[in-house]
Amino acid sequence: MSEVRVRFAPSPTGHLHVGGARTALFNWLVSRGKGSSFILRIEDTDADRSNEEMVDEILAALKWLGFCLDNTPYRQSKHLDRYRKIARKLLKNGDAYPCFCTPEDLKGRKTKSELSGRPWMYDGTCRHMSKVERETKIQAGYPYALRFMVPKDGMTFFTDQVQGVIKVSNSSLDDFVLLRSDGHPTYHLCVVVDDQNMQITNVIRGVDHISNTFKQILLYEVLGAETPVFAHLPLILGPDRTRLSKRHGATSILTFKDSGILPEAMINYLALLGWSHPGKKEIFGVDEAIKEFSLENISKSNAEFDPEKLSWINSQHLRSLPMAKLSLLAEEELKISGLWSSDYTSSHRNWFKNVLRAVQPRMRTLKDFSTSSRSFFTEEFEFDPKAIKKFWKHPLLEDLLIELAEKFICVNPFNSSETEKCLRCFSDQKGVKAGLMINSSRVALTGQAVAPSLFEVIELLGRERVTARLKRAAKSLSQPK
Ligand code: GLU
Repeated sequence: MSEVRVRFAPSPTGHLHVGGARTALFNWLVSRGKGSSFILRIEDTDADRSNEEMVDEILAALKWLGFCLDNTPYRQSKHLDRYRKIARKLLKNGDAYPCFCTPEDLKGRKTKSELSGRPWMYDGTCRHMSKVERETKIQAGYPYALRFMVPKDGMTFFTDQVQGVIKVSNSSLDDFVLLRSDGHPTYHLCVVVDDQNMQITNVIRGVDHISNTFKQILLYEVLGAETPVFAHLPLILGPDRTRLSKRHGATSILTFKDSGILPEAMINYLALLGWSHPGKKEIFGVDEAIKEFSLENISKSNAEFDPEKLSWINSQHLRSLPMAKLSLLAEEELKISGLWSSDYTSSHRNWFKNVLRAVQPRMRTLKDFSTSSRSFFTEEFEFDPKAIKKFWKHPLLEDLLIELAEKFICVNPFNSSETEKCLRCFSDQKGVKAGLMINSSRVALTGQAVAPSLFEVIELLGRERVTARLKRAAKSLSQPK
């Protein structure tokens, strides 16, 4: 079997968003599955729009996702001469021609064409210029671009691995620019020259590139290059069924890292944007994705980005993390949020692990360590107003919480079963439901309406913090609203 060579070729003109990361993933999965190279090619020939920060972001995102590169990132901007040379070769062979139309000329003709209801295509002014006129203009020093001479008859077609056979009549293809008059090569030329040089066998990219593919196929052909096999991935839509964009909060893929998503969950979720596991599994690890992934299981239909599903997938991956990894991630998050204590790896090591064990089944993101589980690590936590509204309604609650705190002083040993007995007995004596004391105490101890089992929380917090917090809650209840 001949080697399958793929590349990920982002333009660093904007953030690497969900769509770009999915393209990277699918290329990476193919390369890993086939034991071949994963090549990163930064398409930065558009000097005005390319941005070094975005290059760094692409590299950081690939690193976060664990897509190790098999090359030093290739920068197109470092190889401009290579593209210019090929453009000149195309000119010499009659596959390209000089175009002297200025941007103003083109703009005027484009407006005119659009006003008369015809979509603009380059009108061939310079294509039909006589050889003599061409030479005269070149001698006179007129600046010129190089345009590709698209054959005007026949069809161009290809069999896409996802979309099937796609064809277009050549007469609908523009004589596109290969080299601008300032000597800058364009996207189409660079892509094809590099794919040929890098011996790329498979191009996997978004469906929005299909119209480029026809033009590029014509270029591969005149360059005598083998045309790669194409797979155009379906669009990703937002929950409102419009194309995923910044409006849906989709900027950089790294924002998901910052919001506490695990890279393995991100990969799991991105893989499902267009692809389905042959066993219809929704949760799988990276190794399984590599093993099972194939372009045949990609759907033509648009995929929908659903943040809720990503969050659920993340919670599933969090749940199965081994303690060693979970504690490292917790340490990282607690350090970021200023809640870390070195005791958690020394004297309070076991306590720390027990807390992690208690919170792990409910976690949705790594941020939960410093948000919903914050009360384990600091006295500085807020009472959730919704939880207060729901569970701190009883008129005698202030006294009840103080009295419960007093009762807890005498519970021995201070563990979950003894404190539970004590709370239930206290509720009976007072003629209130145990649920009232359980729910109100949970808010008092954690600030939240939902948390691990109250008695587990009580045992983990210990007598001193529990009694102090019940009293603090009572005090807050006594404050005028
Ligand atoms: N540079 C193009 C982009 O970022 C991708 C080109 C390609 O994959 O052929 O959309």
